[in-house]
Amino acid sequence: AASIEELQQRIKWDKDGLVAAIVQDAVSKEVVMLAYMNAESLKLSVESGETWFWSRSRSELWHKGATSGHTQPIRSIHYDCDADTLLVRVDQNGAACHTGRYSCFFNPIIEEAAAVQGAQDVQGDRFRMLNELEAVISKRYAERPEGAYTTYLFEKGLDKILKKFGEESIEVVIAAKNGDNEELRSETSDLLFHLMVLLRERGISLDDVMAELGARHNKPTTNKMNR
Ligand code: AMP
Ligand code: ZN
Ligand code: ZN
Ligand code: ZN
Repeated sequence: AASIEELQQRIKWDKDGLVAAIVQDAVSKEVVMLAYMNAESLKLSVESGETWFWSRSRSELWHKGATSGHTQPIRSIHYDCDADTLLVRVDQNGAACHTGRYSCFFNPIIEEAAAVQGAQDVQGDRFRMLNELEAVISKRYAERPEGAYTTYLFEKGLDKILKKFGEESIEVVIAAKNGDNEELRSETSDLLFHLMVLLRERGISLDDVMAELGARHNKPTTNKMNR
């Protein structure tokens, strides 16, 4: 493996000795912030496993979350084609933005029209709804807005989420047994929602699950029936 000094030499530092670092939530895939690293903060990030930046306004090294508690445990770091940008994938704890928002990118200049999104749904991208639900749940997880049911679940913690998930799965069973498809559809929606909250609480993404399903699909097993 390359030493940290070798890695530092590969980066094209700007005239101030800085490189832009894009920070992405590894679970939701949301881009949550952009900050700058110098050679020392890259070293500290690699060695500690949490993000360190260089604050241009305060001219000092900055351990993200040192005061807010909203640290960013690192999953991966990549540099781009011409080595002038870093992509840091993290397990975002709480809000990435100092305003308390999940992502720093909350000011729209052009917004995707709701009508366009709706049309795409109709065109067959039905699972888009699960992606959107995952994004909303990640936002609630980070921001904990008062009065939201999702906030309530996260505040109560894993045991409460598991209890709800268990109840909803039983309600799905009952609906199916009753032969009531209207009820089955409604209870399945409850079940999926609580499953997504459970996965978020445990730090697993839909992508992780889809990758597992894909791996199974491509690897035939002899006793599928016994699963
Ligand atoms: P924190 O690192 O979250 O404990 O925040 C400490 C300080 O770092 C804040 O008061 C801000 O000055 C700055 N800061 C934190 N997060 C951001 C961000 N996403 N973008 C710019 N500055 C930030
Ligand atoms: Zn580049
Ligand atoms: Zn911000
Ligand atoms: Zn239910």
